[in-house]
Amino acid sequence: MSNKRDYYEVLNADRNASQTDLKKAYRKLALQYHPDRNPGDAAAEEKFKEAAEAYDVLSDPKKRELYDRFGHQGLEGSGFSGFSGFEDIFSSFGDIFEDFFGLGGGRGSGSQHQRGADLRYDLSLSFLEAAFGVEKELPLEKMDTCQSCEGNGCEAGTQTETCQFCRGSGQMSRNQGFFTVRTTCPHCRGNGQMIPHPCKACNGTGQIKTRKTVSVKIPAGVDTGSRLRLTNEGEAGRQGGPRGDLYVFIHVEPHDFFERDNTDVICRVPLSFVQAALGDTISVPTLDGEKKLRIPKGTQYGDVFRFNGEGIASLRTGRRGDQIIQVIIKTPTSLNKKQESLLKEFAKLESGKISKRIKNILRGESVGT
Ligand SMILES: [Zn+2]
Ligand SMILES: [Zn+2]
Repeated sequence: MSNKRDYYEVLNADRNASQTDLKKAYRKLALQYHPDRNPGDAAAEEKFKEAAEAYDVLSDPKKRELYDRFGHQGLEGSGFSGFSGFEDIFSSFGDIFEDFFGLGGGRGSGSQHQRGADLRYDLSLSFLEAAFGVEKELPLEKMDTCQSCEGNGCEAGTQTETCQFCRGSGQMSRNQGFFTVRTTCPHCRGNGQMIPHPCKACNGTGQIKTRKTVSVKIPAGVDTGSRLRLTNEGEAGRQGGPRGDLYVFIHVEPHDFFERDNTDVICRVPLSFVQAALGDTISVPTLDGEKKLRIPKGTQYGDVFRFNGEGIASLRTGRRGDQIIQVIIKTPTSLNKKQESLLKEFAKLESGKISKRIKNILRGESVGT
């Protein structure tokens, strides 16, 4: 007598369930108890095998009829013995598992669409190129589809053959204790196809290293760390798979005069102490050329002026930041006699104020202005 559970009960299916219903019911269980999802779980393994056996019987009209009329005994009488292990199950229901787990192309066709690799290009830009945008030609060396064989890797007039080792599935499975280990077929490297006469140009790889120039429009406002993606400019896919993408990583070189703070441009402008004291109008370089800046009387070291909208465009909004001008006051280092005597004269007039302030500081009194 068999101590097996009823197959309909195993699949949670009606006695008169259609083939579609049975397949659905089995998929659900197979997915739930799949060994890849339940590594080392003996109970799940039992359930998985039980469901496979039930589905194997009920999906076959002859076996189903035998089972419906005579139960488990009827099948045993016909020589049915269930599955010996996972490998058996996978080879019987490979189609179903490929559907579930998205293992790629149909069984037998063996094609394995593989997306091409993404490429990285590190691009240095000058400060002004980054500020205003620029068009660049990028010389690339990448794997492209072989023109001689159009990527199938076969010498002209020959064809691929189904791999005998994996029967075109591209995968091998073997039992290892409780686990079933599935690996890429080493003979066809997962393609499911063998190339008996490899293309001489590409040695059967279907791809060839190619030099190509890609032109790229760099938008105004990029900065170091900006990354541009050029769709489909990566390496060619295999077996008709899509191309990879090209990623351009931007590096902006420093500028002698301008510095950048997000969309603002910062610069430092030297003034003589006379200009600072008396005020002046000076010329300041901006991204768009020289611009006049009025320096008021009594400007201090570090004072900041701003040109609105003279900065760098925001990548997101296109709005330009400001130019920030920081004043640096230079002390003269070489004075002629006349300058020196004038300054001494000036100092006499100043000395009263300054020495009084210093005395106050030394006495610890508050520093007045
Ligand atoms: Zn070729
Ligand atoms: Zn193979």
